[in-house]
Amino acid sequence: MTKTVDIVVPCYNEEEMLKMFFEETTKVINTIPNYSFKYIFIDDGSRDKTYEILKELGSTYDNVSYISFSRNFGKEAGMYAGLSYTTADYVIVMDADLQHPPALIPEMIKNIEEGYDCCAAMRTTREGESPIRSFFSRTFYKLSNKITDVDLVQGAVDYRIMSRAMVDAVMSMSEKQRFSKGIFAWVGFKTKWIPYENVERALGTTKWSFKSLFRYAVTGITTFSIAPIRFVTGMGFFISLIGFLYIVFTIVKTLIFGIDVAGYVTTLSAVIFLGGITLISIGILGEYIANIYIEVKNRPLFILKDTNISLTDNHRKKEQ
Ligand code: UDP
Ligand code: MG
Repeated sequence: MTKTVDIVVPCYNEEEMLKMFFEETTKVINTIPNYSFKYIFIDDGSRDKTYEILKELGSTYDNVSYISFSRNFGKEAGMYAGLSYTTADYVIVMDADLQHPPALIPEMIKNIEEGYDCCAAMRTTREGESPIRSFFSRTFYKLSNKITDVDLVQGAVDYRIMSRAMVDAVMSMSEKQRFSKGIFAWVGFKTKWIPYENVERALGTTKWSFKSLFRYAVTGITTFSIAPIRFVTGMGFFISLIGFLYIVFTIVKTLIFGIDVAGYVTTLSAVIFLGGITLISIGILGEYIANIYIEVKNRPLFILKDTNISLTDNHRKKEQ
């Protein structure tokens, strides 16, 4: 029996890469017999011709579906939307810029057939990336693996094939603040990692700025761990203890040596230091409150503008 595979591809301003991506990937999947592949492209509110290209591909090829957002909602929303429209036995998630080599697809499928629930790619090199970015990335992985329940794999990218059971598990996590690397790890399932050499983007540019990566890292940590809050509590106890010891020390000193001239510098340093610590602590609490705020608002993760997927399509596929 032919098995079905949906390929979910989030795209934001990818007019330069899209056709090349489609051709390259199609070449690869055409070499894999006994599987029927379908693309689900997500136009994440692109400002270029991405939407037009997707429409054209959609009307030319039967196996091309697209979803177009009303504005840019981010790659996480794109992946979520794409996954929510999948119906196939297996689902592949990959980038549109060919940085995720389609040549790995046959190996991924082989692994999942051998009993894995998931087969994911990891970069072995970070060539083409600035040293500062690599440093921050490494620090993030170390920190997050230490303080969260999930173990993130260094170099893991959002390029993977998943079984239907795993996709359903990922979709059952309804959080609005989505950090997929954490979600994929959190749901568990047997995952096989396949290494590959980093590929540089041929055309177009990365959509990530340092600021957006930093925010993403903060979301990753604060949605998967409350260690920062514990840290604030611990710090409070520690500083109180030091304060207490200092009071005892001062009382004893005064009793023995009499009153000293008041230390202006010590007082000022203590005020500034504690002021800083207090503000950081409020900031950390604020991150969690912001997360709660975003979750309770319960806004949709994306707003659909147009799609060529109809519900009946989905149902027809399910019945097959
Ligand atoms: N992307 C998206 N929405 C965004 C930003 C990126 O759908 O707001 C897509 C983008 O089109 C690409 C993938 O996510 O297919 C990865 O983006 P990019 O290549 O910029 O990230 P990098 O490879 O530098 O991590
Ligand atoms: Mg890229």
